[in-house]
Amino acid sequence: MTEKLEAPRLGEPYLLTPGPLTTSYRVKAAMLRDWGSWDSDFRAMTAELRQRLLAMLGDGHENFDCVPMQGSGTFAVEAMLGSFVPHDGKVLVLANGAYGLRAAETLRYLGRDLVLLDKGDYMPPRGEEVAQILAGDPEITHVIVAHCETSSGILNPIAEISEATYAAGRKFLIDSMSAFGAVPAEVATIRFDALVSSANKCIEGVPGFGFVLARISELEAAKGRSHSLSLDVHAQWAHMNKTGQWRFTPPTHVVVAFLEALRAHEEEGGVAARGARYARNRDVVVAGMRELSFDTLLADRWLSPIIVTFFCPADPKFVFDDFYRMMKNRGFIIYPGKLTVVASFRIGCIGQMDEYVMAQVVVAAKECLAEMGVADASPPEAALIEKAKLAA
Ligand SMILES: *Cc1c(COP(=O)(O)O)cnc(C)c1O
Repeated sequence: MTEKLEAPRLGEPYLLTPGPLTTSYRVKAAMLRDWGSWDSDFRAMTAELRQRLLAMLGDGHENFDCVPMQGSGTFAVEAMLGSFVPHDGKVLVLANGAYGLRAAETLRYLGRDLVLLDKGDYMPPRGEEVAQILAGDPEITHVIVAHCETSSGILNPIAEISEATYAAGRKFLIDSMSAFGAVPAEVATIRFDALVSSANKCIEGVPGFGFVLARISELEAAKGRSHSLSLDVHAQWAHMNKTGQWRFTPPTHVVVAFLEALRAHEEEGGVAARGARYARNRDVVVAGMRELSFDTLLADRWLSPIIVTFFCPADPKFVFDDFYRMMKNRGFIIYPGKLTVVASFRIGCIGQMDEYVMAQVVVAAKECLAEMGVADASPPEAALIEKAKLAA
């Protein structure tokens, strides 16, 4: 058992959500100071931040560079697609949830050709399917997938997708928004040309910017390609390398808080330790909720350490809005589900929380069931039919 983490102050609830999430006091305290964006102290912080993120790619990271981009994660995805996919390129979008579909929507805005493999609410896109689609369509230049599809919490099989992509001579882009920093993405193990993530997920910073980690050759090739002034990754990269500054006003407080979060990430033991803490969080909440007769959408092999989807109980006395309010009264903000076929809710495992907190989440859920008069939290038959699809 590990040492307990500090609880949020001032009676704040824990955010069991996939970002914004519960941050440490240390990260919040770092924002209590103003910085000049052009000043050398701030430029040094930007440089350290970029270097620390690059180092997480492990051996071979020298061939990559890190480009922070203002805005939420979606801005970074749009920046990546608009900068790395040529105007006459074509993207195979692998979707099994809202974020995959959003990448497709982004490409439509950008006027880029795309093929959408829509697997529905959660079924994972597999390497063989990707190989087959690429073999049949030589015009496809890029493949994109969400690393952890946060809408269901599934961890997509990016290693086999990457292999299929490069075996067919195409390029792989990863939306690792909710996974980077907790799930390994080392370039020596998984080949890709660009990956995006943001400040307010597994690194445990506050929202305000995203970042692109891209192969330097791709950054060079992106010159003049972007549709957008503010989302031009090449221009931001070139300017940052030349001046040390962001092109337009950076979210200074967010940047400083993020650097503090990166230092804490390293002190905790880096990606491996962060991932291990989140995995323990998941294991405790999943075991505890199953004990209460709740069921998860996904079988264990597909569960990510990021967020878990639970089915709402079949018992009509279970009303999600009441459950949400009762959990909030007990100090836990949970997250509604996103499945289209059966009612569900999600519990996030990321943020400044540990297994002791997750055990309290289970206790709170047990009390809420009792308060609602729900004796059995088993899901409806339809949920089990749904669940059997992936198990098969
Ligand atoms: C959070 C997230 C995003 C970006 O969402 P924003 O609300 O724009 O920050 C994109 N993809 C995935 C997989 C995510 O989890």
